Amino acid sequence: MPTESTFILAAIFLILAATGWLLGYFGERDEQPPLNIDYLKGLNFLLNDQTDQAVEHFLKMVRVDNTTIETHFALGNLFRKRGEVNRAIRIHQNIIARPDISNQQRDQAFHSLAKDYLNAGLLDRAEILFTRLSNGSDYSQEALFNLINIYEQEKEWQKAIEASQKLSKLSGKISCEHQVSHYICELAEEAISTENYKEACLLISEIKVNNQTTLRTDLIKANIAFIEGDLRNASEIYYKILNKNSYLITESLPLLFDIYKKQDGLNELDSQLLSILESYPNLRNDIAYTAIVNDIRGSVVIDQCIEKYIQDDSTLSEFINVNDIFQSAPSNRVEATAKIRHALRILGTSNPLYQCNECGFSSQKLLWLCPSCKNWETQRPFLSVKFDSLLQRKAVNN
Ligand SMILES: [Zn+2]
Repeated sequence: MPTESTFILAAIFLILAATGWLLGYFGERDEQPPLNIDYLKGLNFLLNDQTDQAVEHFLKMVRVDNTTIETHFALGNLFRKRGEVNRAIRIHQNIIARPDISNQQRDQAFHSLAKDYLNAGLLDRAEILFTRLSNGSDYSQEALFNLINIYEQEKEWQKAIEASQKLSKLSGKISCEHQVSHYICELAEEAISTENYKEACLLISEIKVNNQTTLRTDLIKANIAFIEGDLRNASEIYYKILNKNSYLITESLPLLFDIYKKQDGLNELDSQLLSILESYPNLRNDIAYTAIVNDIRGSVVIDQCIEKYIQDDSTLSEFINVNDIFQSAPSNRVEATAKIRHALRILGTSNPLYQCNECGFSSQKLLWLCPSCKNWETQRPFLSVKFDSLLQRKAVNN
């Protein structure tokens, strides 16, 4: 099946053929044949769907020089954009192999070839070329952006930090503090996974010195304190996260609840939650939904939040008579509420729990780096059952 790039290659052969004929007709008849058989050979390859042979023929026939180099670049970039990366690589390698091109043209060719490698998933080769270009070429900034992208894919956080700092210094305008904070958090989490808590704490304190731009650092500090059994410190930090009216409620409330439950101190948790709700009444809904999804039971204040959540949910009230339930005898009310909680939990956990604010990518687990749009810390938790999407899914499945 001929592609758009095949047609363009065919057009190039025709233009070259026409140019050759015109030169032959109006120019030096002795030196230029009216129609070079090579052009027809190239076209013949294309007509027989032999694009690779046509490319090789083009490369042999059209020497890279100042008048043809842009045609080579245009064709190479076109092949890459069409997903025909091997052909793009062949064309850009051919330009680099020419001894008589300028340094600027060579850098342009290295840059194009690096992008080909990146598209082909050959990250090691792309890294080598982008590293070369990041040191004093016209493509330094773009090369550093690409290197950061590669290091994020390969989870090479230390290299990502160095490339980001170099980019900030080079541009003088681009701030990489937020992403660097996350790279350090990634390194800290790697240290935690190998039980090197001292190293993790040292890394996190490094962010504080630079510039703390994410509550993730507090979450890591609380998690280390929790693992090491310093429950007082852990609960203070989780409480601080909640008190910042943070979307990290889904990551902090379940652990805060566990700490107080272990210490038989759910009354203390209740008074802390009441204090937060005085400042942020809207957090009632978030507390309720987080408790439903994580099956948190035993706190009077959380139970009250859940009852209010059930009462206020307009979609739910279309299916059941909520007021009748809450006006019934206490035993009936407790039993009915428990059933509704159970149903809401099943519905909530059968759907993604987080969604990216930027691109809509959703997942069951909080992902600090969105795998789709590559932004840091753009995921937010769903904090209510999405009945609409459930009904749509049911309609599609039927
Ligand atoms: Zn995204």
